[in-house]
Amino acid sequence: MSRRIPALWTSHPSSPQWHDLCQRLVGCRACPRLVAWREEGRRRGKAAYWSRPVPGEGDPKARVLVLGMAPGMEGGNRTGRPFCGDASGRWVREALSRHGWAGGDGEPLSGVYLSNLARCVPPQNRLRAEELARCLPYLREELQLLGHLEVVLALGRQAFLAYLGLREDAPKTARFAHGALVYFPTRPHWLLASYHPSPHNTGPGRLTRAMWEEIWRSVAELAGGSGSTVDPAVLKLHQVVTPSPGQDGAEVLGHRAVGVKAVVADDVGAADEGGVSLNRA
Ligand code: SF4
Repeated sequence: MSRRIPALWTSHPSSPQWHDLCQRLVGCRACPRLVAWREEGRRRGKAAYWSRPVPGEGDPKARVLVLGMAPGMEGGNRTGRPFCGDASGRWVREALSRHGWAGGDGEPLSGVYLSNLARCVPPQNRLRAEELARCLPYLREELQLLGHLEVVLALGRQAFLAYLGLREDAPKTARFAHGALVYFPTRPHWLLASYHPSPHNTGPGRLTRAMWEEIWRSVAELAGGSGSTVDPAVLKLHQVVTPSPGQDGAEVLGHRAVGVKAVVADDVGAADEGGVSLNRA
């Protein structure tokens, strides 16, 4: 595969903000350990590997953000595109096509944007906490530019927890579970959790095709609403977390979510000390 410029970079050259962000990101060498590892493919003689930070890809007017942890060595680090080129990427890209977010492989994404918490592939799929902290400002910039988002689909526990950590209006506490759904009083209104579609989860059937399809049907329903018009039947499928009593917006779900029980847990925190495991739910 020839080395290619990431799709977003070439699709929206007229937007100075996106162009500036992509240029800074692609040239970033702030994490020496990850810079060395991302170039490993090329060092092994695989000259076609992208081996640079992987920018986000998709529609600047997206209503859905699909958020992973970091590119894989044979996925984004090889192709230069998030969720592209490996088994996890196939699950994501196929779902996007089936549910109308993309016309097919290589076609522009419509209404959806793909990104990761960290943009360089880490050794043994483990990020250090300081590496994650160094890279998160790029995601913050993307979130500011993506002004039409309604739903963030977090793939894996770390993406879920890290995104919660970026939100000032997040519920005080929440627990990761496949299908867990968090409501925010401000946009994007929804955070939906899924097991990551890595072979670690899909191989043994922890994440099945049926479970994956249900997630994407819910994404479509949540993205189609305005934060207050989502079908209660969809909400019933999920474990919904609302703001804690006393937080702004707590009452919003109180009169809306028929049959949905608010869940308050106590394990939201920063990234694990000593490293962040990728592709683990
Ligand atoms: S992980 Fe992020 S901050 Fe670190 S070198 Fe890559 S792009 Fe830069």
